[in-house]
Amino acid sequence: VRCQNVFGFFMCSHMYVFSTIKQYHTHLLAGSVTCLQVTQQYLNSINANKHLNAFVATYTQQALAQAQQLDALRATGAPLSPLHGVVIALKDVICYKDQTVTAASKILKGFVSQYSATAVERLVTQGAIIIGTCNCDEFAMGSTNENSVYGPTLNAADVTRVPGGSSGGSAVAVQANMCMVSLGSDTGGSVRQPADFCGVVGLKPSYGRVSRYGLIAYASSFDQIGVFGNNVQDVATILESIEGPDAFDSTATPTKQLNKNGSYLQTTSRGPFTFGYFKQALYHPNLDAEIKENLLQLIAQLKADGHKVTEFNFELIDNIVPTYYVLTTAEASSNLGRFDGVRYGHRSAQPAANLTEFYKNNRSEGFSKEVQRRIMLGTFVLSAGYYDAYFTKAQQVRQLLINQTTEFFKNCDALILPVSPTTAFKQGEKTTDPIAMYLADIYTVYANLVGIPGIALPLFKHSNGMPFGMQLHTTNNNETQLLQIAQHIFTTYKK
Ligand code: GLN
Repeated sequence: VRCQNVFGFFMCSHMYVFSTIKQYHTHLLAGSVTCLQVTQQYLNSINANKHLNAFVATYTQQALAQAQQLDALRATGAPLSPLHGVVIALKDVICYKDQTVTAASKILKGFVSQYSATAVERLVTQGAIIIGTCNCDEFAMGSTNENSVYGPTLNAADVTRVPGGSSGGSAVAVQANMCMVSLGSDTGGSVRQPADFCGVVGLKPSYGRVSRYGLIAYASSFDQIGVFGNNVQDVATILESIEGPDAFDSTATPTKQLNKNGSYLQTTSRGPFTFGYFKQALYHPNLDAEIKENLLQLIAQLKADGHKVTEFNFELIDNIVPTYYVLTTAEASSNLGRFDGVRYGHRSAQPAANLTEFYKNNRSEGFSKEVQRRIMLGTFVLSAGYYDAYFTKAQQVRQLLINQTTEFFKNCDALILPVSPTTAFKQGEKTTDPIAMYLADIYTVYANLVGIPGIALPLFKHSNGMPFGMQLHTTNNNETQLLQIAQHIFTTYKK
């Protein structure tokens, strides 16, 4: 516990800063801090950072009351539950009972969750304090957090830049010390890319590792709840608390992946590991020269330190973004059909002559242009005349990618990839050109197409002042190894 000016984002004479959840618990047990003090501190920080627009709702009274209860429980000498007093923020697509959830869309304005997402239920049961809900791109569609009914979130490292998206608010909430950890969702990079733009750790678990029950769907065969944190250990702690089978989600993985002693990082490993990277990814013409240089240097260093690094050919790299956008828009057009103004959401005041006009009015007013664009594209690729040319073809490419991925992992423990071709974009830079924005997803959509886990690790600083890092992937449902290797790289090579 120390006094400091946290990252220079705001001045505060008395700040509790904990390196990890574990260290926070040590201080709680020693009595040097209380949950109430820490919760109050994060609430103050949310207030002081309002200009960043990271939060869309804050649960002040409820969070403070919960903190008091947890302090009272600790005073009884009861052992701390794994997330005792851990202050967590949620992306505005994750349901928390009796609180609003809107997917940053006008169509869900004022909608109140009738139940909590399984992940949230598990966090709360294990002692976490939910402090609020974070801004994001509407229905998790976007890469900048500019496509939100609440307006853009700003990057705390440079307010003229975007925090990335779609989980931009959740990334900034951790970046600017407004919570300890946060949840986001990652359909094609929405946790890893904003983590990279904001200089925090971002984990997308394997498909199905975390139940999607209570997560507003974008593209169901891609969606996964992910975690933002300041370090690999905290992210591992949260994953451990929320993962595992769930009767409410038949796609959730049927086994839990805990190590015997209850922690992903119970055993740390220094390798040597076998890494792989894609030639076409690192030498891609769109990759920023400085990012490429730093990754090549890291690879050289890994080799020098006794790890094996293999270069793979990945000819399909330029096909992955089109495949992703065909499949996700198809799924989105179906998922978003439920928002019709009858069962959910905004109902237009305009008189409608018939049912079609009624839907049209509600949906035209309720959805932003980007969401409308994706629903139309998805409807088009699923239409009878084009189904085989686009949807079936994209499914075939997805299968090819899965097959190739199996081959890659026969020859490596982990894959190294950039996270984004550039550091954080300037506000407004990509808004007029959706295709340019889609193409910037080139390094993140791969993991969702094939279902493997991925983690973004902030390792470097660009000469433009912005953070950036690298991605690591392992085989499906191998988070234990992913987190162990990530921990090793993060603690050894972070500059
Ligand atoms: N940027 C990607 C998109 O716009 C990723 C979104 C996500 O992961 N939710 O679809």
